[in-house]
Order: sequence, then C-alpha cells, then structure tokens
Amino acid sequence: MTDRLTRIRTELDERNLDALLISAPGEEEFGAANRRYVSGFTGSTGQVLVTRDRAIVAADFRYVEQAERECAPRGFEVFQALGARREWFPRLIGEAGLGGRRIGISTRDLSYAGFLAMMELLDDLPASGQPELVPAKGIVEGLRRMKDPEELGLIERAIAISDAAFDRLESALRPDMTELEVAEVFAANVRAAGGEDISFPTIVAAGPWSAMPHASPRPEVLGEGRPIVIDMGARFAGYCSDLTRTLALGTPDAKFRAVYSIVFEAQTAAIEGIEAGMRASDAHMLAQGVMDRAGYGERFGHGLGHGVGLDVHEDPYLGTSSEDVLEEGMVFTIEPGIYLPGWGGVRIEDIVVIENGKPRVLSHARKLTPAGV
Ligand code: ZN
Ligand code: ZN
Repeated sequence: MTDRLTRIRTELDERNLDALLISAPGEEEFGAANRRYVSGFTGSTGQVLVTRDRAIVAADFRYVEQAERECAPRGFEVFQALGARREWFPRLIGEAGLGGRRIGISTRDLSYAGFLAMMELLDDLPASGQPELVPAKGIVEGLRRMKDPEELGLIERAIAISDAAFDRLESALRPDMTELEVAEVFAANVRAAGGEDISFPTIVAAGPWSAMPHASPRPEVLGEGRPIVIDMGARFAGYCSDLTRTLALGTPDAKFRAVYSIVFEAQTAAIEGIEAGMRASDAHMLAQGVMDRAGYGERFGHGLGHGVGLDVHEDPYLGTSSEDVLEEGMVFTIEPGIYLPGWGGVRIEDIVVIENGKPRVLSHARKLTPAGV
C-alpha cells in the first residue's frame, strides 16, 4: 500500500502541508474508514500521521501489537501512545519533527470537540514547537473514490455474500413473517455465508410503509399482493455491499406491475447509458428522464446512487446536486425508486464498477423482470 502513502504525499506537496493527521480518538464513527484505508489499522482508537518521509500509527497499550501486525507491512512504524494524551500527543508531534510545521487535519475524522481538545494539548508546547493545524479536507476520501484491484475483490466478496443471503431469504419469505423477522433472517444468512456482519441496518418495508425510502422494519407481517422493499448489505474484510430488491408475495396488483416496470426501465437506462467521464448529475438524469416521461418524476426524490467501499455511503454521489464526475475504477450503486404515499414503493439497487469506460454490474441477486411481474 506504499502507493497510497505516495499519493497522500503528492497531495501534501500540492497543499503545502508537512503532514496529514487522521485522528479518531475513541470516535468510531469518525475516521475509522480513512484510517483503515491508509494504514490498515482496525482498532477502535488510534491516530495516523503521514509526514513527507514517515508513516506513523499511534496506538495505545491495547492495540500496540495489533497495530504492528496490521500496519508494519504497509510501511508504518508504531508509536506507543502510553499514559495521558497530554503527555504522548505533544511527544508524537516532536518526534515526528513537526514542531513549527503545517499539519493538515483530515476534517471528516475529528469532531469539533476533538479539535478543541487537540489545540489545548498543543498549547503546552513552547511557541516555536507548536505546529500549525490546517484543515485538509477530502485527501483520503479523494483517493478512496477509485478502487484498486484488491479493494474491488473484497467488494465483490461482500456482494456475493449479500446476494447469496438474499436468495436464501427470498426462498423463505412467507406472508405471515414480520418485517423484523425478515431482517433477522437476512443477518443470519449473511453470517452463514461468511460475512462479518450486515453493513447497515436492514430496511424491510411492506405495503404503504415502503413508500418511505428509509423505513425501519416493524413487527408487522409482510402480507400478500403488495410491494415489499428490502434494502440490505453485507460486510467482508471491512468492505460493504448494498442491495435493494422489491417483490410481492402472492399476486401483485396492476399498479405494482406498472410501477415496477418503470423503475426497472429507469435502472436499465442508467446502467446502459453511463460512461466514464460523465457527470454524476447527468447519470442521475438518465433514470430521472424515464421517470419523468412515465409521469412519476416527482415520486423519485432521492439520488440515483452513491459510492460503496469501506463505508456503505461514500464518494461519488449520483444526484442532481452532485459535482462529481464518474471515472474508471469507481464503484457505486444505481438505485432508482418510486414512492407513492398510501400505496408503497419500489426500489431496485445494484452495484456497478466502471470498467473499460462502462458500468459492469457486480450484483447477481435474483431480480424480478418486468416480464416476470
Ligand atoms: Zn441500499
Ligand atoms: Zn444504496
């Protein structure tokens, strides 16, 4: 992974920074993915510091050995963050030769409270030894947009696990199962198929409940003849999958056939029309156009998709407000939906990778086709 360090250092040059600090002190939701991407470290607490010529992971007593195992092969040295933070953090800055230098803070990985605490710690250093902390937005997120072959392989494993977990789930669905039971079965299937866990809380929504794109599962039965939206994913070696299928048990009503066919057509239009170099907002419009022409344009309402990797939602974002451009090696979802209050919703979501200029669909879970509805 020296390549990742080299690319970070190129960014440091461009931004006139002497180091990048990825800080995640006890805040799992901040920085876990960026820190893991750069260093391989998976502990709950620990900081990553990349200077022009050194790469350091600061780990406390619980994680020193783990950090050695996970990060040394990637060219990192482990700094033992022993004792109070007030003692070791200024020492880390001094030993890394960063007194008086410009340290870029990975902005996504530190809360405002954490930032204030860090400023206070540095106050103890003599004025000449104090570094300048500079916001460094999006350096690691930028690198994470394009997946390397190793990452793509892990994402494909996560996808294969959720595909298998869904196929097994679908065969077991019965009208008297509750939404919560369905979510439980999916999670068990993921673990049985070799996944670490689900990658986000599973959405299971039947009937009118499915008109809410992010509905939480309830102790309510699935019922027959009405839409059931299941949005689910698995995690493998830290990488996520994200899959949505909409189906109906028994015989669906005529509206289901009509709405499902439009969503399917919108997804197909996006998969077939997307090309490398296209603006993500234009990609969204490929699906939006189908919805608009069918008279359901107002009932779509969310973005066409999002990047997937160490986080289930990451760059790029595909939607009208996006300024992203779709490029070779990006992995993202294509998930149009139509939501009708009082009736329900239909969403179909698959993951693609841009390869040789075009999307290649990575998801293979069973999917209703308009002819089969
Ligand atoms: Zn999803
Ligand atoms: Zn998604």
